[in-house]
Amino acid sequence: MRLKSIKLAGFKSFVDPVTVPFESNMTSIVGPNGCGKSNVIDAVRWVMGESSAKMLRGESMADVIFNGSTGRKPVGQATIELLFDNQDGSLGGQYAEYREIAVKRLVTRDGQSLYYFNGQKCRRRDIADLFMGTGLGPRSYAIIGQGMISRLIEARPDELRATIEEAAGISRYKERRRETENR
Ligand code: ATP
Ligand code: MG
Repeated sequence: MRLKSIKLAGFKSFVDPVTVPFESNMTSIVGPNGCGKSNVIDAVRWVMGESSAKMLRGESMADVIFNGSTGRKPVGQATIELLFDNQDGSLGGQYAEYREIAVKRLVTRDGQSLYYFNGQKCRRRDIADLFMGTGLGPRSYAIIGQGMISRLIEARPDELRATIEEAAGISRYKERRRETENR
């Protein structure tokens, strides 16, 4: 599975719709301070269901919506779409049949938050379920942020175990069991 592109519109500094392609296995994003490099990573976290504004370097969830600049009015909504290549079927189970997977999130200023899987409206937990056990996800180790390596080195055994379980692909089943037990 590979991330092929990100479409951004109205998200943070990306007011006009833009597609960022990831054509090879390595892509670097370079640019001056404040040009929006970290906003691209925030976009990836956000679309996968991040619900903490702090994790996205904002104070409230509406902070992800473009809030205006000199000469540009604020906009009413933000959308991000991630497009994954799943030709190798590594996103297995019920998703293996999809060669391409599009995950989209939309949020409006009045607080509406919608998720889509290949164009179909779905729940946040469907998106969480899709990525669980793949190493991807809003808080997963697929995105290595500042300070994360030292946090991992200093982690308590139970914290470290959660990471190992995610890498082994069993966190999905543990989560299902936990939900069943709580019913
Ligand atoms: P650095 O090299 O310093 O890490 P960067 O390229 O990572 O910079 P970002 O942090 O991605 O930069 O982008 C910050 C910019 O995004 C700031 O100019 C900020 O004004 C803008 N920005 C963030 N949120 C919004 C928003 N809701 N609306 C408009 N602009 C925003
Ligand atoms: Mg940055």
